[in-house]
Amino acid sequence: MIFKRKSIKLVLGCDYTIWYNPLKKMNCRLIQPTEKGYNFLNLDTNKCVLKYHLYKSKCSEHTENDKTVFWVNENLKISTIYRKEELLDAPKVLRTHYYCMNPADYDIECPLCGQHTMSWSEYEGHIWCYHCQKDILLTWKNSGVFSGPIPIGTAGLLGMSFDRVDMDENIIKFNPLGENSKKYNESWVKDKKLNEYEKELNEKYSN
Ligand SMILES: [Zn+2]
Repeated sequence: MIFKRKSIKLVLGCDYTIWYNPLKKMNCRLIQPTEKGYNFLNLDTNKCVLKYHLYKSKCSEHTENDKTVFWVNENLKISTIYRKEELLDAPKVLRTHYYCMNPADYDIECPLCGQHTMSWSEYEGHIWCYHCQKDILLTWKNSGVFSGPIPIGTAGLLGMSFDRVDMDENIIKFNPLGENSKKYNESWVKDKKLNEYEKELNEKYSN
């Protein structure tokens, strides 16, 4: 079987959540068990996850500018594990809209405690967790259906609606199928400042 591969920046010793199947996420650390081979150590079982080691990319573009690029199976999802403070201290911008349905209905989970008892935070890109009693930044791996391309039709069959309350106008905007759905997806979660923050974190972890 031929696996397609994708290049990704990883940092030795940093922690990542990785998964092939969203129901089987593993918290791992990038380690270097052999002179040139890298692998993910499952922090719960203390075993290496990948059957074959990862090796640094030898692609000339990668080796010249950046020595931490690896080629991995493109089906493997990898998400940086942020520190608690980074999730709590993210820039906060007041929300202008929220989805009518609860975040838990979209499979979103609290990035800190993993529970589903939450509501939309008053801040963009955040949820309010009743368990943690805090506004917490959503990361990609905790974003449920929003962490992948959203098949709106399929989501509809599962009973999900993307109708939103516009807080300025105080009206419900019904999810338009088709051309506007793209706009909805893009404007969800991330406002510009948060994007910059995420970029900053990514840069920090990849140096
Ligand atoms: Zn929580």
